[in-house]
Parts: sequence; C-alpha cells; structure tokens
Amino acid sequence: MDGLNKSMYDIGSDSAFAILARSQELEKKGNSVINLGIGQPDFPTPQNVVEAAVKALRDGHHGYTSSNGIKELRTAVADDFYNRNNVEIDPDNILITPGGKSVIFYTLLMFGEPGAEIITPDPGFIAYKSMIDYTGATAVSLPHRMENDFSFDADELLSLINDKTKLIILNSPANPTGGVVSEVELIKLAEGLLKFPKVYVLSDEIYSRILFDNHKHLSPLKFKEIKDRVIVLDGWSKTYSMTGWRLGFGIYPKSIFSFAEKLAINSHSCVNSASQIAGIEALTGDQTHVDKMINEFNKRREFLVTELNKIKNVECKKPGGAFYVFPKIIKENMNSVEISKYLLEKKFIATVPGSSFGKNGEGFLRVSYASTLDNLKIFIDCLRDFINE
Ligand code: PLP
Repeated sequence: MDGLNKSMYDIGSDSAFAILARSQELEKKGNSVINLGIGQPDFPTPQNVVEAAVKALRDGHHGYTSSNGIKELRTAVADDFYNRNNVEIDPDNILITPGGKSVIFYTLLMFGEPGAEIITPDPGFIAYKSMIDYTGATAVSLPHRMENDFSFDADELLSLINDKTKLIILNSPANPTGGVVSEVELIKLAEGLLKFPKVYVLSDEIYSRILFDNHKHLSPLKFKEIKDRVIVLDGWSKTYSMTGWRLGFGIYPKSIFSFAEKLAINSHSCVNSASQIAGIEALTGDQTHVDKMINEFNKRREFLVTELNKIKNVECKKPGGAFYVFPKIIKENMNSVEISKYLLEKKFIATVPGSSFGKNGEGFLRVSYASTLDNLKIFIDCLRDFINE
C-alpha cells in the first residue's frame, strides 16, 4: 500500500495470538477447544491484589502518574530484585511499563537500525525477531539446542559478535522451551564480553520466579564485568497471573535510562495508576499464591514429560522453568505448522508450531501447561492417536 513506512512490511506478528483467535472462532461454532497455545497462567490474580486495585480506584487514583512509575512501586521492585538476586538497584533506574513487552519494544528501538546486528535466541520469543526486523537491524540467530537442555553455548555466542553487534538478547527461563541458561555458560559469556565493551545485553527474566527442581535464577546483572550494560525485563504478568493488567518493568543502566523514559513518555505516558498500586501489593503482600501456582505447574510438567516420552517418535526434555514443554515430534511428511494445524482443526487442541519461534524450532511444538491436568491428559491421548494414525 502506498504511503506506509516500508518498515511496516518487516514487522512480524505472534502466532500464539492468531491461534487464540482461530480457537475462539472454532468455539463460536460450538466446538470445545483445549487451549495449550497461549502463554498465560490459568489462575486468577490473587484476591489481595485485586482488592488493592479496587481500593486504589475508590481512593481516587484516576490520573497520570510520573512516566517512569510510582516511586513506591519502583522501590518495591528494587527490594524484590535485591531479595531474589542480591543485587542493589537504584529505583531511579527502573521504568514501569505496560507489560514486559514494552521493554523489548523500547530497547530494540534504542539499539536497532539498518547495519546493526542483534543476537537473539533461536528458538526464541517471537517479538524479539519481529521488532529487530522492524528496526532494519539484522537478527543473528543464537541456537538453543535440545541436546544442551535449550541453553546456549557461550563460545558459539561470542563467535557471532563483530563490529556491527549492538545487543544480545537472553531469556531464562525461556519461552518457548522452558530452558534455563547454564551458569557455566553465563560466567563464560560475562568474561568474554570484556573484549566487547560496546555490546549490551537485554535479559528477559519474565519467567524468573517460575523455576523447578534445584534451578536458581541467575541474572546477568550479577556480573560486575557487564552490569553497566545489562537491561533487565521482568513484570507481573506470569508470576502473579496479571497478563491483562499490563504491568511490567525494565531496569536500564543509568547511561541510557533517559532514552527509554523518553520513549515511554512519547508512547504510553504512564501505566494506569490502579495497576501500579496493585503491583505494590503483589510484590509486598502474601506470596503463597505464587508458591501454589509453581507447585501445580510442577505436577503438570512431571506428568507431561513422562507421558510425552512414552509416545513413539516424541522426545521431550524436562524444562527447568516457565510453563511450557517443547517436545520434538516426528510425523512423516508433516512439519510443525501442519502438526499444530491438524491438532487444532481435527482434535480441537491449540498448540504453537516450533518453527514460529525460529528455524531451530522446526520439528517441535510448544505446549503450554497453563491448563488443567484433565486437559493435558486429553492432549496426550490425542497426540498418541495422531502419531499412531
Ligand atoms: N517475554 C517473554 C519471553 C514472554 O513470553 C512474554 C509473554 O508471553 C513477555 C516477555 C511479555 O510479557 P507481558 O505480557 O508482560 O508483556
């Protein structure tokens, strides 16, 4: 179409939302669809958090807040980050955003331009590549392989860096694989990056509370070699089942904070004030909801991994975090898009094809276990039937 900026043709979309729309269409036609496609916890927001928002509205919090977010909220974020990571953050380096996704958007607008290279996980969260493409920068794939438990190889990552590299995106625990970055590789990366002082890191830690077994979260902000060039993304969406509240944050190094803040001022102005007040309650109030949710996810993960590995031509690693499994599925003459489409159209089960997350995702399916154990049992039965057909 004439008149549009040509970058508009480079921006991608998120197939999980397209699959959600198709599932809703099928439901409208009277089918009951099991949705294992979308990445949102199937638990309500904790009641104390809802009450805090209702009270905030009743108390008259209806107006703009400062664009970087309410000070008490930023202080609560800094305290929580300290408690979980033992790293002190100045609340003035924290930008409250409408969901974690805005941190991806702003950061890629800050670093991406034609000629720049940005290293991004493959398979990886779809928004990274879409936004890199939109800015005109080149997305350089960093393979996260099943045989490495979907972590990366630091030597391989360091070998991808050249004069054009501006930013490396890390995501642990990861969407779509649930993989957790290996501590050894992260240490190697931090040391290796001493040779590349201009390269920044965007660490997407949106699933950092959802960890299983003995996995501990390790933020790249912990490494003094690189801490002045690490941007952290996190938020409330997954930990507190608050996807619809649109509340997230970015921790930016002081040297670049004002640029992120200007992007915020010129786009969203500020996050709605009741959500921000609810965010304080989420971080400082009772945490039993989070523990219960993780316990429940853990049971489902154990079930899925065990049952998937019993099916012929299916192989599934046990993911260390998030709420996805990423099984490898071999079905003659069918790629991951065709398998996912078949499961949705014929069995009414929504999943996301692995290839939507990058070329290294081909052959896999992303299955979100933010659904009941009964639904997961139906999925396993359908997948087994499909493989044996
Ligand atoms: N980062 C990753 C890896 C995600 O999976 C998601 C959501 O699915 C986000 C960021 C964005 O989260 P939010 O809903 O807070 O924008």
